[in-house]
Amino acid sequence: MERTFAIIKPNAFADGNSGKILGRIYEEGFKVVGLKKLYMSIVEAEGFYHVHQEKPFFGELTDFMASGPCIVMVLEAEGAIKKWRDLMGATNPADAAPGTLRKEFGQSLGENATHGSDAPDTAAFEIGYFFSGLELL
Ligand code: UDP
Ligand code: MG
Repeated sequence: MERTFAIIKPNAFADGNSGKILGRIYEEGFKVVGLKKLYMSIVEAEGFYHVHQEKPFFGELTDFMASGPCIVMVLEAEGAIKKWRDLMGATNPADAAPGTLRKEFGQSLGENATHGSDAPDTAAFEIGYFFSGLELL
């Protein structure tokens, strides 16, 4: 079993799509190991996305992630990292396949409804950034 880190981003939370997204998560067979709502500060968003700090979209991205509440989750499944990225679809909702979460709930390249870790090392960092071991029992 593998674990990945996922976010229902502020646009999807504000639009009232958290329930639908969670429904898809359960339908696809993920186990929800950790889940909480939080409202990130800019500093917290900058730390989370530190790998993107040199990118031109870093300011826009961190402003967006701190613009409202979101839901952070730890999801478990066989091949969870790829399985969750496949369910999310392409980064840009305009390029995402029909039936993917970003196609259905994303508004734009920035406000693309969900986040998912891209590799085992980033999943480990991202899970530890938001969850303690006791929250994942
Ligand atoms: N993003 C953006 N502009 C870009 C590329 C990315 O606003 O040109 C945002 C988008 O919300 C994306 C996040 O930055 O989800 C992280 O980018 P990454 O390339 O890691 O995409 P992801 O792994 O989320 O598909
Ligand atoms: Mg990424």
